[in-house]
Amino acid sequence: MTDTNNDNAKHKARMQKQKTKVDERIAAATQDKGLLLVITGNGKGKSTSGFGTIARAVGHGLNAAVVQYVKGGWACGERNLLEKNGVIFHVMGTGFTWETQDKETDIKAAQAAWQHSKILLQDPSIDVVLLDEITYMLTYKYIDLNEVLEVLSSRPKEQHVIITGRACHRAIIDMADTVSEVRSIKHAFDNGIQAQKGIDW
Ligand code: ATP
Ligand code: MG
Repeated sequence: MTDTNNDNAKHKARMQKQKTKVDERIAAATQDKGLLLVITGNGKGKSTSGFGTIARAVGHGLNAAVVQYVKGGWACGERNLLEKNGVIFHVMGTGFTWETQDKETDIKAAQAAWQHSKILLQDPSIDVVLLDEITYMLTYKYIDLNEVLEVLSSRPKEQHVIITGRACHRAIIDMADTVSEVRSIKHAFDNGIQAQKGIDW
């Protein structure tokens, strides 16, 4: 047997072994249910990932809704696109908290966004809900953690929920089915480059 043939045979055997393992794991994954996903961490890509999942769901004809906590001050590209495709949007609307510097206004806005989220999380006709940046509302205690946990756990069985934002509370991470942490290696902003349309918003 030549070296090349030998390499090919070894590669084939390795791949076959891997395929058997993957096939076994796929066969074992028989449950079907609505997932709770968390995208957290300090790196860029949390909201983009959440919106990417919404686009994926819409592409399959699923009903999707987005509640954006924190960012109300500026139009984001994904809203322009997804609203045209039937995605329900609720934007909290006070802008960044260090812009308003008014705690009472922020709390009212957070509570209103949460009331809207609750309606979505009790509606079985909504297949996927993105709660973008909700983690900050919990960090600041603008909304009640126990109520959020309760509403998440009693939502329709088939409904998927995506939560994004830095420093996600441990209790939500524990409840979630899939949790990813985006780690920052570098970010253009640190080198004085301003937020770019279509990339950052
Ligand atoms: P994106 O919306 O781009 O996916 P994100 O949701 O992961 O970002 P946020 O904390 O919501 O991150 O911040 C949104 C904005 O801040 C974006 O313009 C993003 O490029 C910028 N940003 C995200 N991470 C960092 C970072 N580590 N340093 C500086 N700016 C950041
Ligand atoms: Mg974000």
